Amino acid sequence: MPETAEKKKNAGRFSLAEARRKRRRTKNRVCDCCGKTAPFCWTCRCGFAICQDCMYENFWGLSCNGITWVCPECGDQNGFGNQ
Ligand SMILES: [Zn+2]
Ligand SMILES: [Zn+2]
Repeated sequence: MPETAEKKKNAGRFSLAEARRKRRRTKNRVCDCCGKTAPFCWTCRCGFAICQDCMYENFWGLSCNGITWVCPECGDQNGFGNQ
């Protein structure tokens, strides 16, 4: 099976292992989830960044109340309105 099929199977579910494999380039606001450069990323104090698309896709897994999201890297809680 090609890799895309595997990715589709896991779509909507944030992969912790995948996030850890990506290199941190927060200066360029590269999403740690999809690896794309995004004009805006939600960021954590540990350096983890996630673009709006990925945040939307993984919203149910990262946020339980819509007010804060939990960083998959360090487990810290970050507020949506406090960047
Ligand atoms: Zn992304
Ligand atoms: Zn973090």
